[in-house]
Amino acid sequence: MTVEEFAAGLPADQLPAYVYDLAPLRAHAAAVRAALPEGVELYYAAKANPDSAVLEALQGAVDGYEVSSAGELAHVREVLPDARLAFGGPGKTPAEVRAGVAAGVHRWHVESLQELYHLNNELAGARKQQDVLLRVNVPVSDGSLDSVALAMGGRPSPFGVDPADVDQCLMLLAGPVGWEMRFRGIHAHLGSGLSAAAQLAVCEQIVDWSVAHANRYGLQVSEVNVGGGMAVDYADPANLFDWTEFGAGLGKLLARHPGLRLRIEPGRALTAYCGYYVTDVLDVKTSQGEAFAVVRGGTHHLRTPATKGHSQPFTVVPVELWPYTWDLPRAAAQGRISVTGQLCTPKDVLAAGVPVEQLRVGDRLAFAMAGAYAWNISHHEFLMHPRPTFHYLD
Ligand SMILES: *Cc1c(COP(=O)(O)O)cnc(C)c1O
Repeated sequence: MTVEEFAAGLPADQLPAYVYDLAPLRAHAAAVRAALPEGVELYYAAKANPDSAVLEALQGAVDGYEVSSAGELAHVREVLPDARLAFGGPGKTPAEVRAGVAAGVHRWHVESLQELYHLNNELAGARKQQDVLLRVNVPVSDGSLDSVALAMGGRPSPFGVDPADVDQCLMLLAGPVGWEMRFRGIHAHLGSGLSAAAQLAVCEQIVDWSVAHANRYGLQVSEVNVGGGMAVDYADPANLFDWTEFGAGLGKLLARHPGLRLRIEPGRALTAYCGYYVTDVLDVKTSQGEAFAVVRGGTHHLRTPATKGHSQPFTVVPVELWPYTWDLPRAAAQGRISVTGQLCTPKDVLAAGVPVEQLRVGDRLAFAMAGAYAWNISHHEFLMHPRPTFHYLD
């Protein structure tokens, strides 16, 4: 059954609804996996969408999951008790470090010199050596990150160790804290929204920098995690990140560094495509010459278009037998229309001035590309509207 068919058949009291199409998600993840050469591990950044069914659907294709809080850690552990976990993120609390040790984290991504001391302190009683990657705000050449949508590094940033502090971290790892923590290599996640070619250029610089800067303390860089951030094009959903080109490029990079293990941890580019936000049109009106459709729900359920400033792509699912068809006039619009939600703020815009053949009160809309940074980043409590229902197609 297609998502549109499912959306048409959903009982009205189930709207708005999130619909996750899991078979295409599994196929997509398998294709990503297949495009990556031997020596490259694929982790999924759980913050993109930690829905249990989504985590489970990815299980066969990914080597592990990247978590960035004790909440994500406990959740992923519960859903997938045997999964490998990398624990990253700034500002890890003592309680989070203890939770990570107890959960058997596979890799720690250390964010700062202070965190190294802090981790060492908490780990002193753990009696189990922990494997760490030093997250570094690796310097990259001017222009490398010009096309990023969200910069996490390559400029002043709260993420990762500053290159100026790397020496001190490595000396500590080579000496005083080396028993508690086994240095495995470098982690860098510098930005989001890069094409395969741009991403490869950044990866090369991260790997070259890592190998050149870390080996000199007698510490071997056996792994480099080059992060996530593979581009998703909301304006043109068919324009997919080129995993084949990216995989081939990583293969070449590995050939220059025999024995090195690479890891990537995409979030958005894995799960964005599997999610849909389905709702219905409550009102249609014209205001000073422009058409608006007000839908049930809004950006408190699907915040992505408001945060990224795009129009969320959607398809219209026409509803002929609208319950009130025979007793009430039914407002409709053609041409360009803005789709807004039920929130009392001008920011509650799901799509701005997009063309439609026809949109009537009672028609349904299926917003696509709502599988990452969608429900889980939205401000659900604002205005206290009911929550959406959740559905899974298999
Ligand atoms: C958010 C994040 C990711 C995933 O980024 P995407 O843009 O969703 O691919 C990976 N690694 C780290 C450290 C992150 O913070």
